Amino acid sequence: MNAAADGGTVDVRVRFGARAVINLTGTLTALGGISARPEAIAAAAEMLARGVDIVELQACASRIIAEATGAEAGFVAACSSAGICMAVAGAMTGDRLAAIERLPDTESLPDEVVIQTGHLVNYGHPIEQDVRQTGARVVAFGAVNSASPHQLEGAIGPRTAAGLYVVSHHCAPDGQVGFADFVRVCHEHAVPVIVDLAAEYALHAYLEAGADLTIHSAHKFLGGATAGIVCGRKPLVRAAYLQNFGIARPMKVGKEGIAAALAALRCFVAEDRDAVRAAALEQLEYWRGRLAGYAGVRAEIDPDPTDNPFDRLRVTVDAARAGLSAVELVQRLETGEPSIRVRAHQLEHGSFVMDPRSLGAGELEIVADRLCAILDAAARGETDPGARDVHAWRQRKADALRRWPDLDPGPPA
Ligand SMILES: *Cc1c(COP(=O)(O)O)cnc(C)c1O
Repeated sequence: MNAAADGGTVDVRVRFGARAVINLTGTLTALGGISARPEAIAAAAEMLARGVDIVELQACASRIIAEATGAEAGFVAACSSAGICMAVAGAMTGDRLAAIERLPDTESLPDEVVIQTGHLVNYGHPIEQDVRQTGARVVAFGAVNSASPHQLEGAIGPRTAAGLYVVSHHCAPDGQVGFADFVRVCHEHAVPVIVDLAAEYALHAYLEAGADLTIHSAHKFLGGATAGIVCGRKPLVRAAYLQNFGIARPMKVGKEGIAAALAALRCFVAEDRDAVRAAALEQLEYWRGRLAGYAGVRAEIDPDPTDNPFDRLRVTVDAARAGLSAVELVQRLETGEPSIRVRAHQLEHGSFVMDPRSLGAGELEIVADRLCAILDAAARGETDPGARDVHAWRQRKADALRRWPDLDPGPPA
């Protein structure tokens, strides 16, 4: 993929020396998020060449976000991680600029954030760090397989600034306090509820169910550039926004990110969700058809685990029959040209998932051809037994990261 389809200019990734990637993780931030919508790209490009008053642009963003979400107000942040940090900081300081400038010194401020243990996720870094860098303390309650409203009540005290609730397939699946109970207990104690909905399509539902602030990534389902959307009750939104003049200065969003987020949000709201889902399902069915004849390979439609309106294809590989394991298949997809990246969280169980939301033109077939070529080779016995250990593969990735910027494996020690 050295040349772009339109007239032979070299692909921007290749021009800078990076490999072209087909992103089948869907929206993973580490792969640059979702491929942005043309409307978002155009808005960002136009805005980049113009001067604009950011405070005014963000006030306009507030109205557009309010219209799209039903919130009282909103703003665009650098990303969801920044949004969580700013929301927590705002819950501590309110709109007092002196307190905002003093963070992360929290003296005389309420400075505790309650969260259930099963929600202490890692999305590239631990969520606790978004809280702690404001100067707040994380007060966790419950266990990974069991948490209850009385434990939440016990965790709340005079220093509690906010409750943080995470909706994600990364959260502990069982035994956690549900959203309605979380809101009820927090509100009984006048504690505002901040909800991390970074990858969730539900722009209205949690606000309607009592959330005080919700946070969404613009570069995930919305199709914007890298950014976050923070929205909810106006005083809390304002307090979070004002952190731009405090600890959020190093996490600022640019005018181009704001423009892309707003353009993407408008497109997202206007879109027919059922039609989008049906079109993506056709792509998954195409892949499923191409994989149908291979012994030891099972491909199934996998609806999103947190009920977002889209599906993925789950591919499960029986190594004994297919001639290669799931981890080996994933590595071959990754090391080929272009590099094809799938969601590999569950490789231990012999399966991975393919998400079509970031597919570019022509990539559907490239992916199918590559899968078939790898499986054909495996059927002929061309495999690499050294590539079968999931933990060794993850360790190699961790080791490579620690050699950055020297990413190529060095000579054996
Ligand atoms: C992706 C993600 C984040 C971080 O989002 P960014 O916008 O990339 O900072 C936070 N929480 C959850 C649950 C996520 O999935």
